[in-house]
Amino acid sequence: MDSLAERSIADERVGDPDVFGTSGAMTRHHFSCGDMDESNVRSVMLSAEVCQRAVEARDPRFDGIFFVGVTTTGIYCRPICPSRRADPDRRRFFPSAAAAEREHFRPCLRCRPELAPGRALVDAVSRLACAAADRIAGGALTGRTVASLASELFVGERHLRRALKRELGVSPVELAQTHRLLLAKRLLADTTLSMTDVAFASGFQSLRRFNSLILERYGMSPTALRRAATSGPRHRVAPMVADQPDPAGEPLRLTLAYRAPFAWRELVAYLSGRAVPGVETVEDARYGRTVRLDGRTGFVVVDDDAPARQLKLEISPSLLPVMLPLLARLRRLFDLDSEPSVVDAHLEKSGLAFHIRRRPGLRVPGAFEGFEVAMMAILEAASPSRERSSDVASRIVDALGDPLDTGIRGLDRLTPLPESVAEAGPVGLAGLGVAPGSARAIAVLANGLACGTLRLDPGSDVKTACRALVDTCGLGERLAGTIVMRALHWPDAFPASDRALQRATETHGEDALRALAEQWRPWRAYAAFHLWTHDPAKRRDEVVRRNGQAAIA
Ligand SMILES: [Zn+2]
Repeated sequence: MDSLAERSIADERVGDPDVFGTSGAMTRHHFSCGDMDESNVRSVMLSAEVCQRAVEARDPRFDGIFFVGVTTTGIYCRPICPSRRADPDRRRFFPSAAAAEREHFRPCLRCRPELAPGRALVDAVSRLACAAADRIAGGALTGRTVASLASELFVGERHLRRALKRELGVSPVELAQTHRLLLAKRLLADTTLSMTDVAFASGFQSLRRFNSLILERYGMSPTALRRAATSGPRHRVAPMVADQPDPAGEPLRLTLAYRAPFAWRELVAYLSGRAVPGVETVEDARYGRTVRLDGRTGFVVVDDDAPARQLKLEISPSLLPVMLPLLARLRRLFDLDSEPSVVDAHLEKSGLAFHIRRRPGLRVPGAFEGFEVAMMAILEAASPSRERSSDVASRIVDALGDPLDTGIRGLDRLTPLPESVAEAGPVGLAGLGVAPGSARAIAVLANGLACGTLRLDPGSDVKTACRALVDTCGLGERLAGTIVMRALHWPDAFPASDRALQRATETHGEDALRALAEQWRPWRAYAAFHLWTHDPAKRRDEVVRRNGQAAIA
């Protein structure tokens, strides 16, 4: 084992940030947490030396954390690239694919930078950059301005530009353009879609613009790029959907990479226990769901391909025009940008070694739809059993969710829109079997989301969202914390009032648990999931529900 692998990635990250100044791109990588004590702040930076060693070792932990450009060839790669390595003094390091492209490097056809996992960032500045990058990856600048994105994130445009520049080395527009180009490159390589479809799906407004930009950036036409990309070794994704849906044609087969280890089975087991009937299904550790995104509807089926460290996706072609936001949401739902080696190493040193060893790479599931996750959490908290809450959810979906023909067993409804639920109101919901307290909470929540006074998506302010869930919707702190953890995908959320967590840690009361959890920052949500997943007592569910009932009522 080389020296890099022996030491924790967190230790490796501490280096001299100035080294990167010379690359003209990478500056520093700094983690800390919004409301952390100064004493707790972990400063974690990547040095050139660390990058060099990561490249030498083809260390998969750094995949997507930085990219390496080779000055002699003008190609940039993932650190894991199987190609022959260039001399160290011919390497340049970049914090993002966009930063490498900005310096006129072209993506490698072998390791395919467009497939690399993203970066999970946690501190205040990087959180903003992360939220912005996340939305840009989701197509937020397709037909919209940077100013409108900034106002959506409650910051000034200049502040947003600075944050992105600092974290990813590029401007918002450069980032958006690279995302479009890399999605186009991936669709050219992995599908047989027509050029027009690829251009449209990647967010280009015209085929001419698409052609000229590909030529300008990658030095070849889209047709030549497709030929080059498909002539080398490429992964084939085997079909998963047996009963071919047809009317809309063959599903698109794409992949999403992650950093191993990845506790996929635990993740889908968790999602399975909370699946919205008709909307989500889990069978043989394969997750499927219906999708409504920007007016488009369809389905996606997801399976793990552990040896290749990627998820295999099958996507209905009807979702092609919303590919950017769809992939961004799936990354979040499955927590694919997590860096398990960093998170696990930290928690292992903080008293959770037993759990980490049992379940390395445990992820915190995000939300495909914030409202859906919140509604299910509220129903579950107020029900005597999960079967019962699933029954009630089923009635809500049947009454308020639109039907959808996917041809896949168990997937025949779209998740109800907040607008429809708000319109049904507490009385309508109670008529569907929802307990009065929960019906009120869900209706208020739906109404807030429908009129935009409340937001439940990543990048929203954590404290504001929590306060709104408690003050406006009348939820308890525990339930609000759990919802924020998933819907805002907040890695440091921690419901200290949760009795199951108190029992698992043998602490008495909220204050004691909160004090204990300090050492797990900024990844307390991961700690909570480890403790929940391990909790052997089925009683846990009962306790959680009783907590919830008390909180809502
Ligand atoms: Zn490469």
